[in-house]
Amino acid sequence: MIARLRLPRARPRARRSVRAYCEADRWSFDPRYTQGRCPICGWEPENAPNAPDWLALANRVDWDIVGLFLLADVLVLLGLIVANAAGLFPAGHSSFGLPSSPGGVASGPRLH
Ligand SMILES: [Zn+2]
Repeated sequence: MIARLRLPRARPRARRSVRAYCEADRWSFDPRYTQGRCPICGWEPENAPNAPDWLALANRVDWDIVGLFLLADVLVLLGLIVANAAGLFPAGHSSFGLPSSPGGVASGPRLH
């Protein structure tokens, strides 16, 4: 019952074990964790991945640009917080916290 509730493996290809064997050193190693090379002599097997899947994905992302946009977002957010606290928004705009400007809407519309 429990085994039936388990999710099927999304990508069984990613779970394969990658082993390489260096004939010169008689050493078996996983090239994903040795940057695709033999850790002893530096021999590079063909068609061997040089990083685990998650690291290969992370290496494709340009983290400088991601950090730059994240910094810009934080600065805009800080600017909005400071402008809201200083009451620089127009009077019709409702403030995030307590009403700070006397020109704001104080009561509902008069019907009579
Ligand atoms: Zn070797």
